[in-house]
Amino acid sequence: MAEKLNILRLGYRKGRDPRITTHLALVSRALGADNFILAGDEDNDMFENISGVNQRFGGSMECEHTDKPMKWLRNFVNQDAGDGQPGVAIHLTMYGQPYRQVIPQIRKDRPVVVVVGGAKVPSEVFELSQYNLAVGNQPHSEVAALALFLEAWNGPSASEKLLEDGELIIHPSAKGKDVTDTRKE
Ligand code: SAM
Repeated sequence: MAEKLNILRLGYRKGRDPRITTHLALVSRALGADNFILAGDEDNDMFENISGVNQRFGGSMECEHTDKPMKWLRNFVNQDAGDGQPGVAIHLTMYGQPYRQVIPQIRKDRPVVVVVGGAKVPSEVFELSQYNLAVGNQPHSEVAALALFLEAWNGPSASEKLLEDGELIIHPSAKGKDVTDTRKE
């Protein structure tokens, strides 16, 4: 079984960037993350939205909130990644190294956290993370950076993976919507 894949979203501000952060969670879920950790403001509506998407479209990604993201990250990297042993932190930043070149060097036998920044990223994130990876060295979107990273990390079929136990099953179609609603069967 693959090791647990966490996404840590720093600096969430409710009311200022709800769509971007919801999209980060949706991309995380669709591209194979197990756990989405929101730092900054709490937002139960967003968590309920993701849990509704899980119910309708399948999958089991969990969401949690932390009000001490640096403590969470220090603990993950130095002590306990969930099983009492340290894990691997990968920080996505335009100042980092090319992600496609470095990914093959990263161990995959330990839980991972992918750190995505908000408005201001504390310098400690760069120091604590074993890897600082750039999806190109230009500023763009955290959603795009996360999506490209996750597809490279999980392989090209990551975005085609079927998530289990959804009420709605989408069948790929050249035209229109082909959906089975299992509640009607
Ligand atoms: N101004 C912020 C700072 O102090 O670094 C960054 C703002 S940026 C819109 C938000 C996040 O998007 C970054 O922290 C990073 O995680 C991600 N991001 C943006 N461009 C990126 C790139 N080229 N490569 C990797 N991640 C990127």
